[in-house]
Amino acid sequence: MKIDGHTHPNLLKVPSQGDDFIRRAAELGFDSIIFTDHMPFTVTGDEHDRIPFGMVSDYCLAVKELSEKYRNIIGVACGIEIDYRKSCEDEIREVLSCGSFVRVLGSSHLNIKGFSIPFGKLTRSEYAARVIENYIDAADSGLFDVMTHIDVYRWVFSESETYPLADDGFYVNAALENLLRHLFLSMEKRNIALEYNTSPLFKKFDSDGAYPAREILNIASDYTLRYTYGSDAHAAHHVGFAYDSFEKIFKP
Ligand SMILES: [Zn+2]
Ligand SMILES: [Zn+2]
Repeated sequence: MKIDGHTHPNLLKVPSQGDDFIRRAAELGFDSIIFTDHMPFTVTGDEHDRIPFGMVSDYCLAVKELSEKYRNIIGVACGIEIDYRKSCEDEIREVLSCGSFVRVLGSSHLNIKGFSIPFGKLTRSEYAARVIENYIDAADSGLFDVMTHIDVYRWVFSESETYPLADDGFYVNAALENLLRHLFLSMEKRNIALEYNTSPLFKKFDSDGAYPAREILNIASDYTLRYTYGSDAHAAHHVGFAYDSFEKIFKP
């Protein structure tokens, strides 16, 4: 099954994008596309690029209508991407009770109000460790099916003067490797899949490739994990982006 399991049509705000994303996926020969618009959080008060507050069930309904419209052409399924913070578990549970989701993506975004990890005096390595620790808590929470862009800090570093992009070997220093093993063990235990996310390839911030970086995939290969593909498209022309690179690594 060829599935793009991570896409952001911003469906309730730009309804026409739903059709655009679906047509693009069908053109590329996908069997199925999963919409995973972002959950809004009261703590951030920010709806930018997110499902509007109180409208998660409307979002699910809109996806269902599209799945009926295209049922003879391609599968369309309802998912959601959720920023994990331990303090927000109740809010997350409440949102998840508003609909049924074939995929709940656990993620961490570092540049949004209320959720950012302050740079402060952290070293680059400490900063990355904070991110992975948050993913460990997310996996342990049992709320998620898939973990996405676990080394998202690479993007932050690419845009930061405080933390210029990592040099060789940084992605997996000893401290990070320890944390990553902890994360993968938790994911293995709970049958949480690891997403191969191609958005760095079209954002072009790093020549080293998709999330997770190759060094991290090497560590993950010591565990029995499922792998999913996600383009993380925010525009129709990014749907299915570089799917061949996923196939190359995971389906020899
Ligand atoms: Zn994300
Ligand atoms: Zn996303």
